[in-house]
Amino acid sequence: PTEPTADIGLTGLAVMGRNLARNIARHGHTIAVHNRSTEKMTSLLEDHGDEGDFVGSESMADFVASIKQPRAVIIMVKAGEATDAVIDELTPLLDEGDIVVDAGNAHFEDTLRRQQALEERGLHFVGMGVSGGEEGALNGPSIMVGGSEHAYETLGPIVEDIAALVDGTPCATHVGPDGAGHFVKMVHNGIEYADMQLIAEAYDVLRNILGREPAELADVFREWNEGDLDSFLIEMTADVLAHTDAATGRPFVDVVADAAEQKGTGRWTVQSALDLGVPVTGIAEATFARSVSGHVEQREAARAVFSQTSDTPGVEDEEQFVEDVRAALYAAKVVAYAQGFDQITEGSNQHGWDVSPGDLATIWRGGCIIRAKFLDRIREAYEAEPDLTTLMTQEYFSKALRDGEAGWRRVVVAATQAGIPVPAFASSLSYFDALRRDRLPAALIQGLRDNFGAHTYGRVDREGSFHTLWAGDR
Ligand code: NAP
Repeated sequence: PTEPTADIGLTGLAVMGRNLARNIARHGHTIAVHNRSTEKMTSLLEDHGDEGDFVGSESMADFVASIKQPRAVIIMVKAGEATDAVIDELTPLLDEGDIVVDAGNAHFEDTLRRQQALEERGLHFVGMGVSGGEEGALNGPSIMVGGSEHAYETLGPIVEDIAALVDGTPCATHVGPDGAGHFVKMVHNGIEYADMQLIAEAYDVLRNILGREPAELADVFREWNEGDLDSFLIEMTADVLAHTDAATGRPFVDVVADAAEQKGTGRWTVQSALDLGVPVTGIAEATFARSVSGHVEQREAARAVFSQTSDTPGVEDEEQFVEDVRAALYAAKVVAYAQGFDQITEGSNQHGWDVSPGDLATIWRGGCIIRAKFLDRIREAYEAEPDLTTLMTQEYFSKALRDGEAGWRRVVVAATQAGIPVPAFASSLSYFDALRRDRLPAALIQGLRDNFGAHTYGRVDREGSFHTLWAGDR
């Protein structure tokens, strides 16, 4: 057998794995490559073999044998059973101290389970969240690593080498142990859902209340991209809105079926938030909004019974209204991110991960889908105050909320009047109002609970828990 020469290995060469392998090779690391069906491996070598040092293997055994020890092997296959199948095939061939890296979109609880199982066998397991899609994988993703310090010592230099760079800082970090990387990747995706829903609501309101065409709105989003909203998703929104369908000559958004799909990370984020008791209303509304869009039969039935409201409010000052929508979008975005970071903080506390929110804001500035200028502000906020209670009260963000508040309310009112659904705009506004309100009607809920279930209540004027003898008790 020949001497192992590869610095690292990667199995699973579909779009993501193929591009990640090319990225690693382009950075001068010798990489062993493998895929269940050999054709993906050979085509990678044929198409891109000249980009760096690839060592292709048809069998898992040859693949493992081609990697220098202690080995680091990245698995980039379909999340779920496929990942377990690959782990089962791979791990018997490894030696103690080798590092297995799952770079797929695993649920963090699967990562916790796999980490324990592999640790018992003397292997290091790393759950690595990779964001940025195909393009990011090739040219520099944002990478969230969960695993032991020891594993990161080996993996870190390569990972930081291939990640996106912002101001000379790599968009990759050791988030924490075991499931921490996949957990924060999950919340990242949840935030992405909220961000996209808010953008979609802004577009819907502008289009239907101002009666502007998508191409005209592309200019609005382009302009917004010059200011605080400067981000990959806003830039991409302008591109999508400006796009004309070649077959029909119609605006592209008008020929796309309006049922949004999802792969599940939004749902996972909301499920986890419910378990953690963190109200991520923006992410939840965004996830439900996708579900609503997909309930085609119910939508048809409702359309047949309830006519569209035609009470679209007239807008006197169009420029002011556009500015209101921008302010609403920005304020609701602040809320959604604040909630996402709350979930990360709570998840980290409950699992003992010691995640640094500021580090995440730093590595999400580039490479990933939610990359935005705004993340610099979040990074600065956590740098100034690492134990921030909520991002919303930090100076810069509280100013954004205060400045945007009036416009945000006007937009929610106008949309409600016009019958345009704005679940994320409206629920973020309610969340904002709930936090800042002096008294909440939760007091009444406590009263009801005590009445029908003797659940007791606390009082504003005395310590302790109290029960009232209600009529039914006697
Ligand atoms: P994918 O479509 O999720 O998975 C296809 C790959 O999985 C192929 O290499 C396939 O091998 C392999 N595979 C499936 N079942 C297998 C099994 N039972 N045993 C061995 N291999 C098996 O590929 P992808 O889109 O490149 O994504 C890879 C991972 O990255 C996923 O976990 C995904 O969630 C995550 N991710 C994707 C994106 C994205 O934008 N697409 C972004 C971030 C993260 P064969 O070729 O032999 O079928």
